[in-house]
Amino acid sequence: MTAWRRPCRSTWSTRSPTTTGSRCGRTPRSSTGGGSGRLEWIGLRDTRTGATERCDADGLFLLLGAEPRCEWLPPQIATDDHGFILTGRDVPPEAWVDGVPPANLATTVPGVFAVGDIRAGSMKRVAAATGEGASVVPLVHAHLA
Ligand SMILES: Cc1cc2nc3c(=O)[nH]c(=O)nc-3n(C[C@H](O)[C@H](O)[C@H](O)COP(=O)(O)OP(=O)(O)OC[C@H]3O[C@@H](n4cnc5c(N)ncnc54)[C@H](O)[C@@H]3O)c2cc1C
Repeated sequence: MTAWRRPCRSTWSTRSPTTTGSRCGRTPRSSTGGGSGRLEWIGLRDTRTGATERCDADGLFLLLGAEPRCEWLPPQIATDDHGFILTGRDVPPEAWVDGVPPANLATTVPGVFAVGDIRAGSMKRVAAATGEGASVVPLVHAHLA
């Protein structure tokens, strides 16, 4: 969630509309808001500590589902700086075998493939994810053959 325009100490976070790349804090929070005829403030409550904070705000944007959750993968599966899984030519050259990158959708571990949102550089769209899912099937078959 991003509250737009006015300064706020919250890490959750208030930022200029021209500032990109800032991430919301991972602390779970619930929110309220209000104003006279338009949004003027939001109230944030940390659901773990109960701490509350009120911030001036002219706009509110919800950014959901933008963080990968694959910390549990073994380190042999290379990821980018944001935690998305690297495949194909996105894999760093030092991890290529005999100077050849993994096949498209193939990770740094043979037989492990990544498709959809979790894949670095993917489109983050349903059609792309399902298309990649279909595309990877023959690769899995070829690996198992
Ligand atoms: C709010 C929002 C709105 C969106 N609107 C659109 C839109 O309008 N049009 C569009 O094309 N795309 C939209 N997207 C993007 C679209 O939802 C994704 O691109 C698509 O769902 C990606 O599919 P996926 O299979 O890669 O991942 P997901 O759909 O995220 O599926 C991953 C699945 O894996 C499960 N999972 C995660 N970890 C584990 C684990 N350890 N063990 C077992 N299961 C696990 C999850 O529960 C989930 O069911 C939107 C996304 C969001 C968040």
